[in-house]
Amino acid sequence: MFAKNSLESNLSKHHKILNQKSVNRKTFHYFCKPMEIKKKDIRALTKEQLREFFVKNGDKAFRGNQVYEWLWQKAAYSFDDMTNLSKDTRQMLEDNYVINNIKVDTMQRSNDGTIKNAVRLHDNLIVESVLIPTKTRTTACVSSQVGCSLDCKFCATARLKRMRNLNPDEIYDQVVAIDNESRLYHNRPLSNIVFMGMGEPLMNYNNVIKAIDKITSNEGLGMSPKRIVVSTSGVPKMIKKMADDNVKFKLAVSLHSAIDEVRTTIMPFNATFPLADLREALVYWYEKTRNRITYEYVVWNGINDKRKDVDALVQFCKFAPSKVNIIEYNPIDDGEFQQAKSEAIDMYQKVLEANNITVTVRRSRGKDIDAACGQLANKS
Ligand code: SF4
Repeated sequence: MFAKNSLESNLSKHHKILNQKSVNRKTFHYFCKPMEIKKKDIRALTKEQLREFFVKNGDKAFRGNQVYEWLWQKAAYSFDDMTNLSKDTRQMLEDNYVINNIKVDTMQRSNDGTIKNAVRLHDNLIVESVLIPTKTRTTACVSSQVGCSLDCKFCATARLKRMRNLNPDEIYDQVVAIDNESRLYHNRPLSNIVFMGMGEPLMNYNNVIKAIDKITSNEGLGMSPKRIVVSTSGVPKMIKKMADDNVKFKLAVSLHSAIDEVRTTIMPFNATFPLADLREALVYWYEKTRNRITYEYVVWNGINDKRKDVDALVQFCKFAPSKVNIIEYNPIDDGEFQQAKSEAIDMYQKVLEANNITVTVRRSRGKDIDAACGQLANKS
């Protein structure tokens, strides 16, 4: 990982690159376009493929290990950063490959210490990720897709159509950028990651798994999978697949209602994946992993704030050990979804606790910069 002054130069490097690009864009296209060669993203290669590349080019296989370390453990931004390689080797890499890093386009800091990054991808699309500090931890909330194909009515991201899935290194880079910011602004490394930003992570399962493999690998960031939560709106087939794959990270489900009619109104895909299917998949998950399930739950005024809603949730929680996180809601401008009154939240808490279900009531962070849950919509 990085020392503080190299973090500062790394962060400013992001911005310098962007500024330079916007100033020089016209000139660059005018002179260079006819000669443009599409190079492959080097981070799509496995370590073995990198070793083979060097052998094929008359060098030693271990050179591939060095480059792999630069790309993942040291999160190099350019081939020139790879200072233990000769100039010729760096040039050979430059001639054949590109490093498609994300670039922090804008960074906003909230009064409560929350940081929101709008990150620009190599094809100029933008996604957002958030650093959420508390007394005991700093958590990265990362995106898995550009936009989202699901249509949760309360979610700002749902208004952006899904453009594409993020690739593993784009997910990894968001974590590295936030880890750097955590060290720089909060004097501690990132402690936790939640896949709760833009997109449905289980609709981009393979790339999310590859990114988590890198994040948890000692050749990457070396984080414990127990500090990672993948939050899904509930895709039954993929929850079963996760159980079969014996994943080690935690699972959270954005439930918001345990009554089909209500859930379908607020999360229309529930008509395709009804609660019975979700429950069956979660039973499967629990039987295979023995891991408690966390439900993310927002209580809205007039939508799910009645006693029958709590009773349904209690029944849904009973088939496997569960925890309920009641999250404060952040309106996304129209009046349809409003945070429920505190009496309704108190009722949820009392009834759940009376049924021995662990419940926490979480206040949202970063509301002043639209970084709170459900607010990510590339507005900055
Ligand atoms: S809540 Fe999650 S799954 Fe639903 S639309 Fe928003 S980003 Fe997609």
